[in-house]
Amino acid sequence: MKIVSAKKILAGNDKIARENLEFFEKEGVFVLNILGSPGAGKTSLLEALLPRLRESMPVAVIEGDLATSQDAERVAALDVPVVQVNTEGACHLDAAMVSSAAEALDLPRGGILFIENVGNLVCPAGFRLGEHLRLVVLSVTEGDDKVAKYPPMFQKTQAVALNKVDLAGALEFDEEKVRKDLERLLPGGRFFRVSARTGLGLEEVETWLREERACRFEETSG
Ligand code: MG
Ligand code: ZN
Repeated sequence: MKIVSAKKILAGNDKIARENLEFFEKEGVFVLNILGSPGAGKTSLLEALLPRLRESMPVAVIEGDLATSQDAERVAALDVPVVQVNTEGACHLDAAMVSSAAEALDLPRGGILFIENVGNLVCPAGFRLGEHLRLVVLSVTEGDDKVAKYPPMFQKTQAVALNKVDLAGALEFDEEKVRKDLERLLPGGRFFRVSARTGLGLEEVETWLREERACRFEETSG
């Protein structure tokens, strides 16, 4: 019998993730890993953010999915450079997949590379990709218990965007509960209330991204 340690696999992944990050820093590319359940609105949020950001900086996207290129086609329709990674069943992206995808991509030097992870609230949390920051998209249609039930996803991110808040009135969604669970699991983390559909809250997300990129890549004067 052979036993493969998950710890070893993760350590190998972390090494490639560190190399990816070094590469992205050298190329002047700020990288955001977007995570969340299927249907949370990760692609919709991207579709809403990309046109706003690319007015002033280059943007590009790596799309991770088990199958199809439907999300990549939605991004390509905006004339944004995009590479689709089909994981062929794997339920998360890993750093090696991102490394290959980055080679195939027209890198957004001086701008932002978005990586949309496979829709899944569990194992993508454990795989670093070489990103600077993570954003978890959680939607009100998923229910208010998801933060408490999937702690690693919410402990290993820097920000959470609560999406579809325009629909909250039709659901019994307890936003206070979500805020309290997040305060416990992610103290000091950023929280955005957004609707990719109506545009609500997108300006805050955009400002956050610009500031986080600037503090890493733009030299301060004086
Ligand atoms: Mg998607
Ligand atoms: Zn997985």
